[in-house]
Parts: sequence; structure tokens; C-alpha cells
Amino acid sequence: MPNARTPSIHINRQTFNEMDFIIKDTDTSVANAIRRVAIAEVPTMAIDLIHMQVNTSSLHDEVLAHRLGLVPLTSHRVDEFEYTRDCPYCSDHCSHCSVTFDLDVQCTEEALTVTSQDLVNTSALESQLAASVQPVHFSGEYNSTPSEENGLASNGIVLAKLAKGQRIRLTAIAKKGVGKEHAKWSPVCTISYKTDPTVQFDLNILNTLLSDEAKRALVKSSDECLAIDPKSNQLVYETAFTLGRISLPLDCVKKMTLLVLEGLGDPTQVLEYNNDPHQFYFSLETTGALSSEDVLRHTFRVIQTKLNQLSAHLQSTVQENLNTLF
Ligand SMILES: [Zn+2]
Repeated sequence: MPNARTPSIHINRQTFNEMDFIIKDTDTSVANAIRRVAIAEVPTMAIDLIHMQVNTSSLHDEVLAHRLGLVPLTSHRVDEFEYTRDCPYCSDHCSHCSVTFDLDVQCTEEALTVTSQDLVNTSALESQLAASVQPVHFSGEYNSTPSEENGLASNGIVLAKLAKGQRIRLTAIAKKGVGKEHAKWSPVCTISYKTDPTVQFDLNILNTLLSDEAKRALVKSSDECLAIDPKSNQLVYETAFTLGRISLPLDCVKKMTLLVLEGLGDPTQVLEYNNDPHQFYFSLETTGALSSEDVLRHTFRVIQTKLNQLSAHLQSTVQENLNTLF
């Protein structure tokens, strides 16, 4: 029977670019839509066009261009940019749909590492909007937005290493796009979900049925899904099991079923099958282009827009059909 309760979201852990959350009272199709839209349809800014003026490094132009494309750019104001293909102000690219970066580095010492810190946003002086797009230099886990002030900014993402006399000089144009065009626009490093265990037992009944020895034997064969609570001496599920990270091994399920058959005669009283999960444990990590919260917000908006468009189309199709009938 369909679950009529309103879906809800509970955030367990949140940093700037990571979030663990639970979505309750929905089904697999919705959970998967959230995962797929977050990966492929949330827009960000990324370098899409390179004018290579000088490249005497050991890297080919294409390799360097590819690396530049993968540098995440801060995109919290991405909604204010146009997609270049839809831009009403230009035929190529302009300040409404792109941001320009210059990179000019020459090695005069023994060796020099070129990083994302060497990318200079030359559009920044034109508008605050353009200035909001900057390379993401940091990596790792942070509890707040990384910056020079709080000491969380790192040394930048390595792009190339130059030997004495080598030089790279180029102009890079960043444009708005989504992950389904190219992975460089995806704001997400990883997003995955797990559901409640597929098979589990009602431990309240098992605890009354089994002897201490039988309980210990079950714990042994449960692959760390079960434990015995030292205070109450009762069987309990381990957290990893209740979070859906591990499941009961088949041997353990068989053993439990036999034990229950001996004691109760009907294993269905304690066996619980979960073929229709309605609770989803998500783990999300972003590239830093958007905060984890922004990724989720954009994801829900994209899904909502699609459904609104579908609904409007349905309405007009129904109306057309009625007009032809009468
Ligand atoms: Zn434009």
C-alpha cells in the first residue's frame, strides 16, 4: 500500500562541502531522481574554452586544457549567468554568460609548480557577478567556508610543473553548464544512498526465545550485524546494520530461521522482509563549486521545474484533445 505520509529530510552531519542526511517516507524512484539530478543537472561554472598563446611545458595543450576544465569554480551565483547557447546578448560569449581568466607563468628558477592560484580572473573588475567566480583551491573536510582569513585555503590545485625557461600563457573562458554535458560541470564528487536492511528479525521476540548460548552463536555468525548488550544481555543490531551499510549473511539468516522454527514453529512472526524501502540514508560530497546545501536546494528546484513543465504540458494536451472531440 502506498505510503501517504509527507516525505521529510533529516540532516545528520553537515560541513561546507559534505552532508549526511536521511529522506523518509518516499520511495526508490524519488531517491534515485535526487541522486541523478544532483550529479547531472545542477548548473555550475567551468572552464570551457582555452586560447593557448604559449606552452613550452612538457604537457600537451589538450592535457593542460583538460586539467583546467576540471578545476572547480565557485558557482554560488550561477543562476545569474546565462547559458552561452541561449545568451540573448552575444553570439560567442560575453560578460552575461562567461568569465575570463588569464594564466601567465614563466619558470626562472630550477622548477616551478603552476596551480589554480595562478589563474587570474580578469573579468572581476567588470562586475561583482564575475568576481564571484573563482577557482576552488582547497580540498578536504572543513567546517566552514575556506578562506585565507581562517587559514583553510590550501596551496591550490596543481596544473603543471615547469622546468627552467618553460612558460605557459593562456586565456581561459569559463561558462555555465551541467554535468550531463560534461562531468566538469558536475558540482558533486559523490552522492550515494543506502536503505534499511532487506532482511531482519524482530529481536524482541528472539530475545525471549533464545538461550544465552544461542544468542552468542548468532552474534558469531552475523558478520558484526548483531551484538549482545552487556547491560541487558539482549541481542541488539549494530549501528552499521541499522544504517543499511551491512546486511545479515545468508548463513546467519538460515541459522536464525532454524532456531525460530524449533522454538516458535512459524518464522514469519520474527522475519521482516523489506522489499519496499521508504527511508534513504544519503551521503553527499561536493567539489566545492557549490556548498552541499546549495546542491540539494538546486536539485529540488530542478525536479520541481521538470514536474511543473510536465503538468503544464499535460493540461494543454488534455485541452487540445477535448477541443478536437467537441
Ligand atoms: Zn553572452
